[in-house]
Amino acid sequence: MGAQAQQNLSGFAPSNQAKQQKTEQEYRTKQSAERYKLHLHKLTSEPHLAGTPENEKVRDYIADVMRKAGLQVEIFPHDIYMSKSPGESIVELVEPIRMPLNNREFILPEDKYSSDPRLTPGWNAYSGSGDVTAEVVYANYGRKEDFEQLKALGISVKGKIVLARYGGNFRGYKAKHAEAAGAAGVIIYTDPSDSGYMKGITFPEGTQPSDNTIQRGSLLTVDFTGDPLTPFEPALPLDGPKKIKRIDPKDAAFHKIPVTPLPWGSAVEIFKKMTGTKAVPAGWQGGLPLAYRLEGGSTLKVRLKVKQDKEFVRVYQVVGTLTGSELPDEWILAGCHYDAWGYGSTDPNSGTAMLLTLAESLGKLPQKPKRTIKICHWDAEEHGVLGSTEWVEQMRDELSTKAIAYMNFDAAVSGKMFGGSASPSLKKLIIEAAQSVEYPDSNKTVYEHWLAQKGAKKSSTVGVGGSAPVANENEPTIGNLGGGSDHIAFYMHVGIPSLSAGVGGPTLYHSLYDDLFFYHKFVDSTYKMGPMVEQVVGTMSLRLANADILPYDVSRYATDLTTHLKTAEKAIKAYSPSYSIGKLLAQVETLKQNAEQFEAKAKALLSEDKLDKNKLRAINQELRNLEKAFIDPKGMAYGSWYRSLYASSDPYSGYASWMLPAFQYEASLKSTANLADIEARHAKAIENLNNKIVSLNQQLGGTASSLGGGKN
Ligand SMILES: [Zn+2]
Repeated sequence: MGAQAQQNLSGFAPSNQAKQQKTEQEYRTKQSAERYKLHLHKLTSEPHLAGTPENEKVRDYIADVMRKAGLQVEIFPHDIYMSKSPGESIVELVEPIRMPLNNREFILPEDKYSSDPRLTPGWNAYSGSGDVTAEVVYANYGRKEDFEQLKALGISVKGKIVLARYGGNFRGYKAKHAEAAGAAGVIIYTDPSDSGYMKGITFPEGTQPSDNTIQRGSLLTVDFTGDPLTPFEPALPLDGPKKIKRIDPKDAAFHKIPVTPLPWGSAVEIFKKMTGTKAVPAGWQGGLPLAYRLEGGSTLKVRLKVKQDKEFVRVYQVVGTLTGSELPDEWILAGCHYDAWGYGSTDPNSGTAMLLTLAESLGKLPQKPKRTIKICHWDAEEHGVLGSTEWVEQMRDELSTKAIAYMNFDAAVSGKMFGGSASPSLKKLIIEAAQSVEYPDSNKTVYEHWLAQKGAKKSSTVGVGGSAPVANENEPTIGNLGGGSDHIAFYMHVGIPSLSAGVGGPTLYHSLYDDLFFYHKFVDSTYKMGPMVEQVVGTMSLRLANADILPYDVSRYATDLTTHLKTAEKAIKAYSPSYSIGKLLAQVETLKQNAEQFEAKAKALLSEDKLDKNKLRAINQELRNLEKAFIDPKGMAYGSWYRSLYASSDPYSGYASWMLPAFQYEASLKSTANLADIEARHAKAIENLNNKIVSLNQQLGGTASSLGGGKN
């Protein structure tokens, strides 16, 4: 459609704009569905859990492809304390009848990948070990409020096995709340009302979890992200030259009780034998074909045995570098993890395959990008976002001064619906790149396709993440970046603007059926989505790498802050009606005027088309620092490792995004005790951001009038 031709590129002077468009057009001829398919097949034809020889083969393949593409490849080893293998996991009915319950996916004749002997039973990493036989209590989603409700109803889970369904929160919190309430163990099962036959036809006919589809996943809930023994520090190899202080595993906050997942085809056998007479509260009835009960009663005994060791596991971060021709010390980073619960054809390796083709396409460009592009492949994400966090902690100082953006592509080619989440300054970058790329076999751009699906309910958010979009009539829905993937340390610990983007669709999340059979049948049999996403990612990378002035959307900070401040005020007013956040809103108003002034001045400077390289370098350096205005060394009350006042993963759910998390946390406690301090810290951050923008405006000089004063 030639959508790119009429577009005005943000951040480029006119003379460089034409050059950039030529580079991008050339870049967008390099993609090949065959290449993407080849990589996806090479990466995901064997199960490759972190710490296994199969995952080391994947590591070597990734390194090899990037080297051949002309990138300089470095491998960073880390020794992380984690559960490497599922060990032993048994669930059985003991009374009134003996019945072992299935915790494996079936071998399906149509899915050749399902018969591999290396495939594991269902398990949850970082479970405690134990062998308990006890009565059961149903605890709905196992959220804080669910356990509170059980208590209010006079039901104790002490010494019992808790039956909790997936959904509603991070699975680790189900275990945490259950253990705190005295439970002996937890069985987490997939309820068909949340995902399964109540939602549609099940696998392998359809894409909903079948009676034997199991969601695996980590249970780690320490109050920071990364290796549980080395908060703030990189988990460098134990036998390496630099010794890192590690927490004694005995003192780490691991769950002690056994926890394991079940598919609904097995969980229903427990439900069928429950005899408790107390009916469930409204909303607790799930999709199994019986009336749910709170208690199993004394006639039902279930055995839960988990034997799972934790140990030091060496994991490897693979980083490929395309050194910038002019500004090698300014970095653009794109990443995705490569470890998987099983085959990982969508999660994560659709993203890995896309990044490998990106490396190949960029490597073929006759002219190297001005800035450095790093393509990163992380290990041990599934166990708790471990590898990327250790790398960020290792590289923190360098990243802090050099990084321009981190772009995460976990499971980035998992369907056909484009979406994204980003920090404010990068939202426009996604939109503009999507406007420049054609959606395959249609007369639309990716952007037009994205806009058309606005309002259409998404069946999956894997790979796209985020939540609570900022509403805007004229743009597609872009989420705010939450937790659950490898951007966490970049964004929430160091303050690097981050984004996540890709195509989503149906998923058999964390099950062994996420394989090439599923990918071909349900995700994309044409393999054209890989190249399409690669074009969007490459376009974003090349714009960040070559722009004269970094294409951050500076005024978006003010727009989004206004929304989030109002949300925070509303949450606090709910229990403290006189509360007003007006002072901060007034500050943001000034910020907005200065940001708009900056944008006008930057545009004016670029249009003159005579650029002073030193001046640009200084401006871009200051721009890189904007996001860091939100970094507060004191960190959050729920964990000082989370240092961004702007964004955090929700500490109760682990996945959802919390904007202005210090306020949100205070509101979650219905407390006003810390509000003055929280307000002061935000005032300082906004002032700091404003001062940086004022200083940018001074550097830019020119004639634009002083609108907002800008010193408050
Ligand atoms: Zn993933």
